[in-house]
Amino acid sequence: MTREFIPARVFYEPGALDYPLGKSLAEDFRQMKIPLSPATSHNRITGIPGNTPAAQYREAKRTLVIGVRRGEKFQTCKPSAHYQLPLVTSCPGMCEYCYLATTLGKKPYVRIYVNLEEILGIASELIRERLPEITQFEGAATSDPLPVERYSGALRQAIEFFGRESNGRFRFVTKYTDVDSLLDAKHEGHTRFRFSLNCSEVVERYEHGTPSPEERIIAAGNVLKAGYPLGFIFAPIFRFDGWQEAYRRLMERSAEELTKRAPSGWSSEQLTLEFISHRFTSRAKTNILGVFPNSSLPMEETERKFKYGQFGYGKYVYQPEEMKEMKEFFLEQVKVYFPWAQVEYFV
Ligand code: SF4
Repeated sequence: MTREFIPARVFYEPGALDYPLGKSLAEDFRQMKIPLSPATSHNRITGIPGNTPAAQYREAKRTLVIGVRRGEKFQTCKPSAHYQLPLVTSCPGMCEYCYLATTLGKKPYVRIYVNLEEILGIASELIRERLPEITQFEGAATSDPLPVERYSGALRQAIEFFGRESNGRFRFVTKYTDVDSLLDAKHEGHTRFRFSLNCSEVVERYEHGTPSPEERIIAAGNVLKAGYPLGFIFAPIFRFDGWQEAYRRLMERSAEELTKRAPSGWSSEQLTLEFISHRFTSRAKTNILGVFPNSSLPMEETERKFKYGQFGYGKYVYQPEEMKEMKEFFLEQVKVYFPWAQVEYFV
């Protein structure tokens, strides 16, 4: 089952209507009878209802903003890519542990940018600057871009742009499964399509509005069949009663589906795997408890190890001996289920 995102309200920057995509989106939402209002800037949206932080958060997640992405440069995106590719900000999902909780704060409304040609023009210049090297772009640094793809078509446009760029590569990650419109895009193997996976025990407890792990695995099989380079991110990994068996089953089922759907000649050495154990910052904890006051996320500082982060704020990670056990466990499972895959990191 796919979860179609239908916003409760839409805002647009007036300048967005100067672009064909902005104009046609405004027209579509008007026909869908979704309330549509102008906003001075996509960075300052007022008028989202809600009397409590929790209600404001829920309403923000049902709010779509049609904006114009300004600026001549992209943020860097180390270590996974050279630059972020800003196509979308935020996503309609409501995962309690969302990695954007720190950056987007309590009003994470969903923004799509309609000046795609200008954005891809900047990408083109950045690729030229680094020639003859290959330049990598990450499309999910500030969003899950897939749920709004049905409105913007931005991923397809970006995928085909990178398909034509011999020195540009694109990657993004999603928890969503609405992949059909991307399966016949001319990707030329230049886009790595990654799915974020977790076991159902974790998804059912902490994610709201995202597809099940089984649906993601099936979508990953479809993407693999379409010839895309594929990756899985197992994140965030938790320790709970029975975690080993739960994650083992998840990896077993993923491997089974890929084996069934892989095009001829595919081998798991073309698959990338990333593993991220659960961690939190003090700021994220405050934001999370503001919008999910009854969250059962394990965020007890005394049970964790404090680690200084590269961006000046520290995070709470599992204890070193717990991390060691988790890493060994996952690398063991990789040997069993994806023996040739490239493990990019375990953190
Ligand atoms: S799907 Fe990803 S971006 Fe969206 S709320 Fe969940 S973690 Fe955040």
